[in-house]
Amino acid sequence: MTSSLLPLPQLDEWVDPGRRVTYIRNLDRIPNIPADERAKLKLVAEKYVFRANDYYLDLIDWTDPNDPIKQLIIPRLEELRDWGELDASNERAVTVARGVQHKYPDTVLLLCNEVCGAYCRYCFRKRLFMNDNEETTNDVSGGLAYIAENPNVRNVLLTGGDPLLMSTRRLTEIIEALRDIEHVEIIRIGSKMPAFDPWRLTRDPELQAVFRKYSTPQKRIYLMAHFDHPRELTDEAIAGIDCFIRNGVICVNQCPLVKGVNNDPEVLTDLYRKLSFIGCAPYYLFQGRPTEGNEPYEVPIVRGWEIFNEALQEGSGLARRARFAMSHETGKIEILSVDDRYIYLRYIRAKDPALRGQFMIYQRNDDACWLDELEPAVGYGAPRFDPEPLFDVVDGPE
Ligand code: SF4
Repeated sequence: MTSSLLPLPQLDEWVDPGRRVTYIRNLDRIPNIPADERAKLKLVAEKYVFRANDYYLDLIDWTDPNDPIKQLIIPRLEELRDWGELDASNERAVTVARGVQHKYPDTVLLLCNEVCGAYCRYCFRKRLFMNDNEETTNDVSGGLAYIAENPNVRNVLLTGGDPLLMSTRRLTEIIEALRDIEHVEIIRIGSKMPAFDPWRLTRDPELQAVFRKYSTPQKRIYLMAHFDHPRELTDEAIAGIDCFIRNGVICVNQCPLVKGVNNDPEVLTDLYRKLSFIGCAPYYLFQGRPTEGNEPYEVPIVRGWEIFNEALQEGSGLARRARFAMSHETGKIEILSVDDRYIYLRYIRAKDPALRGQFMIYQRNDDACWLDELEPAVGYGAPRFDPEPLFDVVDGPE
């Protein structure tokens, strides 16, 4: 009996794999926004930077004033309202050196880039894109040395900014260096480039080869993709994810719940269904952090849980593995359920070992957007978190 292998589908039969996007930083280059509106929005962009590209802007339906892609990328005047804090989860408290966050004993974040393919208006790290940012570094040698010296660190997340906006040479150096550290098992790359520039990997055979070499059967590289809306899952984006998968990278998706973008059960169901079809199953849905400038994008916790719960009723079992969580200063907290009186929560990860796995019950509050706005039910809230640093600060920002 003869066996025949089916040839892999060629990307270029499907999309142009080599396209380059054109970046746009000046709102005046978007004639679809009326001139008087542009003038006002420039004030917002002076505070919270604007950046997009021709491909992503073409996804906007300009005839719809509430278009979700527009809400995601085009500044809004309401961002200037006095609300929230720039570092709402107090990431500085876990910053042990410039560009290095030691979040949990086994997990280190390397903030290796301060630029993204475009800027999401609701970004919780927008402080990194502002002047005087001292929290990212292009030179990650200190972070790599820190990881090498800490054998508990098994899980490294490359983040920023967007690591996939770095040059292939720099990204390769970091991945090679991490693979030389025996105790590092999982390398994760947090990136929205598959949504903003789906050709990042398809046009780069060198980076494809790096992934094939270093995402090994024993130690995989993960892409933590960031798709917020099903309209971002274009043929090109699907081909981009396909390219990661074919080069040995495991793909999952995490995104925040964003008012005007995906705070609709039908939209979330559609997103989750498509993500599981393409091999990039949903992992986390995040409650938006109370970050300065983000008030127009916030959804209260209770409404968020209702949307998430409804979205999970449909779709495949793979889509239903997602969890709805808050990245709070004290740890990652899953929003398990809500009833007429209470909100039920549980720590997935916690900085304080005493809180790990802790189940908590809070009084229902339909307006609250963050844990700090909730009142614990008598006897069931989390103990107060001791803000003592868990790790020594080697060379952190002031
Ligand atoms: S891609 Fe991520 S880091 Fe960059 S602006 Fe969007 S949310 Fe922020």
